[in-house]
Amino acid sequence: MTDRKPLVVVTGASSGIGAATAAAFAERGYPLLITARRRDRLEQLGLPGAEIAAVDVTDTAGMTEAIQAAEAKHGPVDLLVNCAGLMPLGTVAEQDPSEWRRLFEVNVLALLEVTRIVLPGMIARRHGTIMNLGSVAGRNLYENHTVYNGTKFAVHAMSEGLRREVAASNVRVTVIAPGQIATELLESTASEEIKDGYLAYRESIGGALSPDHVAGIILHTYELPQELCMREIVFAPTAQDA
Ligand code: NDP
Repeated sequence: MTDRKPLVVVTGASSGIGAATAAAFAERGYPLLITARRRDRLEQLGLPGAEIAAVDVTDTAGMTEAIQAAEAKHGPVDLLVNCAGLMPLGTVAEQDPSEWRRLFEVNVLALLEVTRIVLPGMIARRHGTIMNLGSVAGRNLYENHTVYNGTKFAVHAMSEGLRREVAASNVRVTVIAPGQIATELLESTASEEIKDGYLAYRESIGGALSPDHVAGIILHTYELPQELCMREIVFAPTAQDA
């Protein structure tokens, strides 16, 4: 028996929740593969021993290559945290349809494609965990969030469908559904008016939670016994009323 920890893959690890999650797992001694487009930001995390792949999460061939290279060094992936995402807010009447496409490509389709890279191995080994970043916006509707809401409702629905598909194979699927977290997520929204409204609400509730809160929940949930699957974890700042 060895106490070597298994390989963890975190997408969207260059900032926010993904960066905090990568740091939390690194501190616990997990071998990591961290991915995002911005290599400099991944390197700045300074995580000892973490494999870095600067690749667009929608590039399935690139993601496959990165995961296979990390597995060759560290053994099979036991946890995939699908964190990469964007949130360009707007109304259907005014938003550029190219933003809808990008939203679904990154928040939904890439999440599925990356999952599919690691899932057959997990099923074969009868061990593994997929954690998908959903949101309170995967359960509640918010103004200017229509298409983002659509992506997050899709993540929640498909995660539950996937959980049922792989439950008998001893593979866990968890949706992590936070409310407001202080990250760079809003930067993909172009409208200053929408951003100001979003930030004014955040201020009115005394601020957002830290990405470290989310990372702690992800780490704790993963380290629960394999026979215990947290299906969905919904949390938000206490004062967030929607
Ligand atoms: P950030 O903007 O801080 O992080 C988003 C991450 O996704 C970055 O690392 C970014 O890296 C990566 N990313 C975006 N597009 C791509 C792409 N095409 N290819 C590869 N990586 C990509 O936001 P958060 O940390 O807040 O977001 C993480 C997840 O959490 C998202 O799914 C978001 O929807 C969800 N979430 C966030 C909440 C919040 O309040 N912040 C609340 C609920 C859910 P790079 O730009 O370097 O590629």
